[in-house]
Formats: sequence, C-alpha cells, structure tokens
Amino acid sequence: MTTESIEAADRLNAVREAVQRAARLTGRTADDINLIAVSKTQDPAAIRPLITAGQRSFGENRVQEAQGKWPQLQEEAPCITLHLVGQLQSNKAADAVALFDVIHSLDRPSLLTALARAMNAAGKRVPCFVQVNIGAEAQKGGCPIADTPALIRSARDAGIPLLGLMCVPPADVEPAPYFALLAKMAREEGLDRLSMGMSGDFETAIMLGATDIRVGTALFGERPSAARPVPASGRGMIRNSRAT
Ligand SMILES: *Cc1c(COP(=O)(O)O)cnc(C)c1O
Repeated sequence: MTTESIEAADRLNAVREAVQRAARLTGRTADDINLIAVSKTQDPAAIRPLITAGQRSFGENRVQEAQGKWPQLQEEAPCITLHLVGQLQSNKAADAVALFDVIHSLDRPSLLTALARAMNAAGKRVPCFVQVNIGAEAQKGGCPIADTPALIRSARDAGIPLLGLMCVPPADVEPAPYFALLAKMAREEGLDRLSMGMSGDFETAIMLGATDIRVGTALFGERPSAARPVPASGRGMIRNSRAT
C-alpha cells in the first residue's frame, strides 16, 4: 500500500467511526447513513485510494468537472454511485441526467421542467432531493422555504422521483436549528431522506436525522483555496464538546 492509500483509509475510518458514534447517540446505526465523499476539485489520483478503501458514494458540484473524471473512474470501479451536490443550470440538465445517479439540487420550477424533459428524453429517472434555502440567504441556491411545498408537488406531478430534502445552512453559526427545521419540513411532506451535514457538522446533522451526509475535507484533506462553503473545523457538537 502507498502512503496515500494508507492515509485515505485512515481518514475514511475516522469519519466512519464518528458517523457510528453520532448514530448510536440517537438510537440509529451507521447503516442508516449514506456517506457521500465530495470529491470536487480532487484529481482521480486522490479519489482512487478512497475507492480502494471501500468508499462507493461520491459527490461532485460541477457537471463539467465530473464529466472530465468520472467516466474513466467508473470504468475502473463499476459500482460507484455518483451524486450531484452543487447548483445545476437548466442547460446542463441533460448532461446531469446522463451522468449522475442522484441529484441533490432541485430548487426551482425552471430546473424541474428541464430535468423532467431530460429524464423523459433519456428514458432514465434520476432520484432527486429538493434543496431548500434554509437560511434564506440571497447568494445561496435552494428553494425558498415558503415555495418548497409547491415545488415538491410539481416534482411529484412531473414524475420526478423525490428522495427527500437537502440544505446547506449558513456558515459560521450553529447549524442545529436549520437541520431541525429541514427535518420538520421533510416530515410534513412525507419525505424520508435528509441530505445535510458536511465535514464541520455531520455529527450534529446525524443526530437530527440526516440520512445522507456530504463530506469532502474530512476525507480528502483541505481543498486548494477554491470555494469552501463552510469552515472545515470545529462546528460539530461532539467535536466542540470534546475540545473544551
Ligand atoms: C463542498 C461541498 C460539501 C463538502 O464540504 P466539506 O466541508 O469539504 O465537507 C458538501 N456539500 C456541498 C453542497 C458542497 O458544495
């Protein structure tokens, strides 16, 4: 084994153990939680060691970047599940439907229309999460809270399979209230899954019902300075309490 693959396996084990601890605290098991390794900005050379260590779900935030690296990686490892976790432009809907197994960022009627059309044309139903702009932040993707029930209804009418709700809470504040609100909205809509929790807060998210956590930095190390929506350290409840 190379140094890179030993480090990747160590980081994966550490995250899996943290997932298990957080799940147990709320009477769940790690099997209830899908760990998605967010590999945006990472080269195939950085991704392969995680695949070797047994990781199977991966997430990307840009369609074009994913098209550049995943077809080859999927050929090497056929049982990968690929998740689109970033904002999706309507004109990339067909490309997204072709490449991804799950889309986490359905957030507006125009995208819904484009996705429904792309799915019909491809004869492929890609399950989606509706992304909610849970902190009502102007610069962020996600459907406004008030518009979410109508978007869910339209998605169901259009035959788009809905898994649940997804959010990225505001940075630098306690995320728990936002996770709890997303969980309440999902319950009210009869949706089972919650895509919430990143490197800094996935333990908190799990304790509040997350079923799909999207973890980049904790699995790959720091990304080269590019877009990092959340500080990588110390936002999780468990981590905070351990540090003090
Ligand atoms: C980058 C990203 C993540 C992973 O963030 P980390 O803090 O590196 O774990 C999760 N979700 C979305 C939508 C992202 O863009």
